[in-house]
Amino acid sequence: MKHSVDWTHDPDLRSWVESANQPDTDFPIQNLPLGVFRRQGMAESARIGVAIGNQVLDLFQAVQMGLLTELPEKLQFACTATLLNPLMALGAEASLHLRHQLSQFLQSSNQPPAFDSGILVPIAEVEMLLPAAIGDYTDFYASIFHATSVGKLFRPDNPLLPNYKFVPIAYHGRASSIVPSGTPIQRPQGQHKQPEETIPTFGPTRLLDYELEVGGFVGAGNKLGQAIALDQAEDHLFGLCLVNDWSARDIQAWEYQPLGPFLAKSFATTISPWVVTLEALAPFRCPAFTRPTDDPVPLPYLASSTNTEWGGIDLILEVKICTARMRAAGMEPFLLSRTSFNQMYWTLAQMLTHHASNGCNLRPGDLIASGTVSGADPGTQGCLLEITQRGAHPLKLPTGEVRAFLLDGDEVIFHGYCEKANYARIGFGECRGIVGIAI
Ligand code: MN
Repeated sequence: MKHSVDWTHDPDLRSWVESANQPDTDFPIQNLPLGVFRRQGMAESARIGVAIGNQVLDLFQAVQMGLLTELPEKLQFACTATLLNPLMALGAEASLHLRHQLSQFLQSSNQPPAFDSGILVPIAEVEMLLPAAIGDYTDFYASIFHATSVGKLFRPDNPLLPNYKFVPIAYHGRASSIVPSGTPIQRPQGQHKQPEETIPTFGPTRLLDYELEVGGFVGAGNKLGQAIALDQAEDHLFGLCLVNDWSARDIQAWEYQPLGPFLAKSFATTISPWVVTLEALAPFRCPAFTRPTDDPVPLPYLASSTNTEWGGIDLILEVKICTARMRAAGMEPFLLSRTSFNQMYWTLAQMLTHHASNGCNLRPGDLIASGTVSGADPGTQGCLLEITQRGAHPLKLPTGEVRAFLLDGDEVIFHGYCEKANYARIGFGECRGIVGIAI
């Protein structure tokens, strides 16, 4: 199924939630991302919410008030859960149905509910939680620019391994340490060995890095033993978020052979709390990355004309840093890179299809991440390892500080947004985390 543009994407739609009509909001009525929240300081269970302007629409409350009775009962019931998994499990058709209802309900042509209904909560007054129970987490390596420039650092003569252009490479990540944006990140301890050392030492990582990635939440699952055809892959994809795959490069360099990353990655992964649905992204679909003509064509199970023409997403991604000194001086975070997700060698559909191609079952709420999103040009690299060439070229910050890797007190902030003429801009919100000691 290809998600299509419909009346919910009309740029002229306005909401009775005034802040949703501001041109710079991440959450206009055309977006409607879903998340899980709790009112700050309230002893209530978590609820599913929809971001609209600077407010959260409480879906539990909306169902209780009978505002969504046009939806099938099981869909209403899924909206009252404390996690998105039941809603994700209902698949793309339910997701579209919900979007249509929410868009209609929030339009300015409709009567807003009584102001004291408690159905809206300011985003500033909620605590955002993980959107789903993430059973499994798989991290891909889908940017050929990232794979090549990282490969060059370790193998100058042979940067890209021969399987790269045939196999969407991935490793199985750790789901238990995925945390929502804003959670402090503790500097991990681990084994590392300097080239001049004969044996490793154990201690705090000296080479802490971030990785700018896009995450995809699995919607409807597939049965064990049942592969997913490429043109059906997006039926199994609920929506996207931003992912920071924090990485300890010294631990990684020592441990990664022969089985890949382990403790260098599993100490923490931060995700943005709002899940932007595939339906919301329909206007921003674009062709998959154009492979150089002498690259091999993907094997048949990873190739289709729909994927070639529509498999990409023109999602702009930004990384900013704010050091402790910058915060103390009241300075704005500093832009480290800006890139687009449309430069990935493999599409999300190809990653999902490849993942299930051996019969592996994906379950609602599983997370797949894209791998570091890097482009070809300077200023488009998605991690410090690439930007500073493993520390050889430290970057200068406006304070005069230099960074080869992250120091305690550094905050890393990701933003993502889609923009296109004649469409409303939609945003992903933030994915942020401060490194080091809790402050
Ligand atoms: Mn990664």
